[in-house]
Amino acid sequence: MRAVVCQNTELSVQDLPEPTPARGQVRLEVVRCGVCGSDLHARHGFDDWADMAEGVGYERFGRVAQPVVLGHEFCGRVAEYGPGTKRTVPEDTPVVALPMLRNRDADAIDLTGLSRHAPGAYAEQVLVEASLMLPVPNGLDPEIAALTEPMAVAHHAVLRGEVGKRQTAVVVGCGPVGLGVILMLKAQGVRTVVASDPSAGRRALATRCGADVVVDPTDASPWEAGAEKHLRSIPATLELAVGTIERMSRLPVGWWHLWRAADRAGLATPPAPVVFECVGVPGILQDLMAGAPMYSRIVVVGVCVGEDRITPAMGINKEIDLRFVFGYTPLEFRDTLHQLADGTVDPRPLITGTVGLEGVGTAFAALGDDPTHAKVLVDPRAVGSAVLDS
Ligand SMILES: [Zn+2]
Repeated sequence: MRAVVCQNTELSVQDLPEPTPARGQVRLEVVRCGVCGSDLHARHGFDDWADMAEGVGYERFGRVAQPVVLGHEFCGRVAEYGPGTKRTVPEDTPVVALPMLRNRDADAIDLTGLSRHAPGAYAEQVLVEASLMLPVPNGLDPEIAALTEPMAVAHHAVLRGEVGKRQTAVVVGCGPVGLGVILMLKAQGVRTVVASDPSAGRRALATRCGADVVVDPTDASPWEAGAEKHLRSIPATLELAVGTIERMSRLPVGWWHLWRAADRAGLATPPAPVVFECVGVPGILQDLMAGAPMYSRIVVVGVCVGEDRITPAMGINKEIDLRFVFGYTPLEFRDTLHQLADGTVDPRPLITGTVGLEGVGTAFAALGDDPTHAKVLVDPRAVGSAVLDS
């Protein structure tokens, strides 16, 4: 089968043996595979990631010098069942799967498309675990179903952000991750979603994904929307605390009884936005901590692999709630697929191009320097190396 192999930062289309499904596995014929920002990063930065993963006990992450077939955001058709599978999904049915493969010989679970032990879906065929495979429901277009994985990442980030419908959500960075977060916030019913990105192309995509307010951070502040209900400074916070006690003290009951009652009703904490950091470059966390209103929650979705500096006292002054998110749970993955299939979330604005296997290098270049691109899909059957607009 033909596959794109990444080795020593080079991408090349090679003929590899067709993979054989082991016990509990299924071979899929790949229909579409999304190009992820992590793939662009892995091409040059595999070793940094592998070192970090080793620190957390995973020693099978790809390395720059190893041949790795990338691609973890895919949809395929059932082609062959391995031994010990229930074969409940008929052959040729479109399916998606969590990108993980159990390697029974090595007693390990490998990350599909990010390890040489589990080749990914920039290929004509890919192996999946039968237990992690889900048939695409409701006649959903396999091209859209291929976005289940990245949209599950956004779904997880939004759930971890615990955004109330009346809270303001601020999405900083409108690449594919930020756009996915915007789509998921709107699907959750969050009324005010602010999107911020210096690129006009990406701001246009943010609008198409449903952002209510779109700002260019080089000439406007993302913190203005909903600002009247947010506390922006230490004096405003002190005024609120002291002023509240002064007003409560005029009443015949002890102010602490009133405060405790307000606390129980969830009214004692000042309103604050939930900020989604979807940029992932050094310096952005400190910028957000310095700019965000008091009591903001910052959800870190962007992946900054290098070191970064923050001033903890700035976070302390504002009582910033800093949360990191990673991946998704199997349930979130399944629910995301159904949200796409029932039309609750329509990720079509994200798909900006399609390429064949020969075009993966071109797609990487386009995603690296053309901000009008968000999600480029690989169609292993398409010919030529050009990125075809969707
Ligand atoms: Zn991804």
